Amino acid sequence: MNVLLTGGAGYIGSHVTRALAEAGHRCVVVDNLCKGHATAVSEAELVVADVADGRAMRAAMSDHAIDTVIHLAAFIEAAESVAEPDKYFRNNTLIGLMLLDAMREAGVGRMVFSSTAAVYGQPERMPIDEDDRLDPINPYGASKLCVEWMLRAYAQAYKMGFISLRYFNVAGADPAGDIGEDHRPETHLIPLVLQVAMGKHEQMSIFGDDYETDDGTCVRDYIHVCDLADAHVLAAERIGRGCADAYNLGNGAGFSVRQVIETARQVTGSKIPAEVGPRRPGDPPRLIASSQRAMDGLGWRPKRAELSTIIEHAWAWHNGHPDGYAD
Ligand code: UDP
Repeated sequence: MNVLLTGGAGYIGSHVTRALAEAGHRCVVVDNLCKGHATAVSEAELVVADVADGRAMRAAMSDHAIDTVIHLAAFIEAAESVAEPDKYFRNNTLIGLMLLDAMREAGVGRMVFSSTAAVYGQPERMPIDEDDRLDPINPYGASKLCVEWMLRAYAQAYKMGFISLRYFNVAGADPAGDIGEDHRPETHLIPLVLQVAMGKHEQMSIFGDDYETDDGTCVRDYIHVCDLADAHVLAAERIGRGCADAYNLGNGAGFSVRQVIETARQVTGSKIPAEVGPRRPGDPPRLIASSQRAMDGLGWRPKRAELSTIIEHAWAWHNGHPDGYAD
């Protein structure tokens, strides 16, 4: 396949690009580098352009005879989306619509879409399956769910094919150690904990310990970025005309913020001081995936499911690149 990845210079995108290239597919990355890193793109041509630039997108699709798009470019911070919803609906939803139209104009009919567990909001039942109620509690989740709904309508009306992958908490890095997570500013739990272990920050702030969970801190389902990348390859290879399917991607095990910090202490041998602070807006207490549908429908099997493995691989990346891609 000839695959165009939006946001392919980002953390998840760079791992997905590598997995596709290893599976023998040709990749073109379109990224405006507002968050991504040119040096994270090693197995693809990089086109520096904005997804909103319809002319550039149509040219990239036709110049490279693209048959499948993987749309990863997005803003991803739930708390920021509460403060600045306009940014999320513009960048995630409106630009998603513009990309769909550029695809139609270029005659490209298949897309894998980066969706999120945030589409579920605060589900009562765990693990969450894809038929559970979609009821986001922050604009980030809503901005992604809007796109999922657009995909359903486009699949039916225009006979395009889509697979939405609902990511739970993605972490870790390619064990090769040359690509990894480098967000600026970093807001995610595992990289921040490791930055404390490296002495970049004095301590961790735990965002609330009064949730209804075993130790009072939020519970999440952490998935290795390479397992997530494998699922994109399987999805891209299986999209059928007129389909608009959604699959959860997680390991089916929940870990609290305190458990993540404790595992990182064991992996790094560092004390990692932590202090409880206030809750962060937009955080649901608990998110754990059932990925049974991805296993049955895509033949997906996570190969690096242990939290300690995920943290070890992240630790190897951070240790090797204390300043991320600036090194
Ligand atoms: N978290 C925390 N301190 C931090 C960063 C995150 O306690 O400095 C918590 C956050 O409130 C959430 C969990 O860690 O419950 C995972 O947050 P992250 O931002 O990594 O991913 P999210 O669940 O928002 O996608």
